[in-house]
Amino acid sequence: RAKKAGTGRVVVYEPHMHTEALDYLSLHGDLQYAMHEDQFRLQYQPLVRLDTGEIAGVEALVRWHSPTRGLVMPTDFIPIAEESGLIAEIGQWVLKSSATQVAAWRRINPDLTLNVNVSGHQLRHGQFAANVTRALAVAGMPASAVTLELTESVLMNDSEAAMASLASLREMGVQLSIDDFGTGYSSLAYLRELPVNELKIDRAFVDRVESTAEDLALVRTIVDLGHILGLRVVAEGIESPEQLAALRRLGCSYGQGHHLCRPVDPEEMPGILTDSPITPAA
Ligand code: C2E
Ligand code: MG
Ligand code: MG
Ligand code: MG
Repeated sequence: RAKKAGTGRVVVYEPHMHTEALDYLSLHGDLQYAMHEDQFRLQYQPLVRLDTGEIAGVEALVRWHSPTRGLVMPTDFIPIAEESGLIAEIGQWVLKSSATQVAAWRRINPDLTLNVNVSGHQLRHGQFAANVTRALAVAGMPASAVTLELTESVLMNDSEAAMASLASLREMGVQLSIDDFGTGYSSLAYLRELPVNELKIDRAFVDRVESTAEDLALVRTIVDLGHILGLRVVAEGIESPEQLAALRRLGCSYGQGHHLCRPVDPEEMPGILTDSPITPAA
């Protein structure tokens, strides 16, 4: 790494661009191998009804168990999977595996729904909607019980091809969600035009919900806006009893976060579903 420059000192630049290129190549190579060696796993985090504590659904979150790198989190490999195009294959695996898994859990809770994160690159793939249909059909998961999470920038920016994908998904009954809401730049005017069913308030806002009156008002505005537009509103990243209480008071209908339940391995889910409703310490 380049040394911090002090006055009159020689600045030493390491060839970090070269190093980054090598990292990229090595990660890309390992990722390709990972798909074929079955090194991806899913964890699931409940989406909880804030009024009753009941588990309404689960969000699938991908992890990479690399034999050489250890546990790799999605923020560290999804961007590379996107750049290299491998996201199409990984995303299809996530969809197929999670749909199969949740279809089985619906024997415990017949109304259980599934949320899956989808990147813009997947959406631009011409066969995306068809691939989703096929994966859900094979898994025996009704389309109406599946919500695809997209970020604001993907929803606002994307090509006609991507928008066509979204339209066919909507036609087959798949639901759509805006993930990390508030971190992008959607205008309020545009929000009502988006073909979404759900809005997930980014955890940066949830984090600040009780710091100042302004922050509280901001979250209240997002919750009210979502409800006015007829959307399910989900608060992400609820970490404390105080945040939970604040969101309940604001009438936010759903929440996710460590205070309610961390992402868990699939083996733990039947027990959690059987014990639902979740009753976190107040
Ligand atoms: P996201 O979709 O916004 O998912 C929420 C992230 O917040 C998850 O991180 C989750 O573990 C974490 N989280 C949940 N509750 C709390 C909390 O109370 N506090 C804090 N600090 N964090 C909490 P994770 O699993 O590391 O995933 C990060 C991001 O990677 C996801 O953000 C999503 O954008 C992406 N991602 C995950 N799985 C997939 C996937 O299968 N496909 C694609 N395309 N992206 C994925
Ligand atoms: Mg998400
Ligand atoms: Mg996200
Ligand atoms: Mg999010």
